[in-house]
Amino acid sequence: MATCKKCGASIIWIKTMKGKSMPCDSVLIAYKADRAGKDTIVTPNGETIRCRLTFDGDATGVGYISHWSTCPNAEDFRRAEK
Ligand SMILES: [Zn+2]
Repeated sequence: MATCKKCGASIIWIKTMKGKSMPCDSVLIAYKADRAGKDTIVTPNGETIRCRLTFDGDATGVGYISHWSTCPNAEDFRRAEK
């Protein structure tokens, strides 16, 4: 478990299939795989899946959402990436 340097949220680093480490919210959330979905989720084994988040019980799995989409200071992240 790690902490976001920007907002103090607890995050975990997940290594994606592409070999990149990605900061994600430490909370597992349910998703439904959907090619047209507006969200992207990372599964615990590092697969990134286009999906939409669901609370309706029709989830196809659970995964982590990129902290970049939830961090209030995400802009700082993007700058730091360069
Ligand atoms: Zn943050």
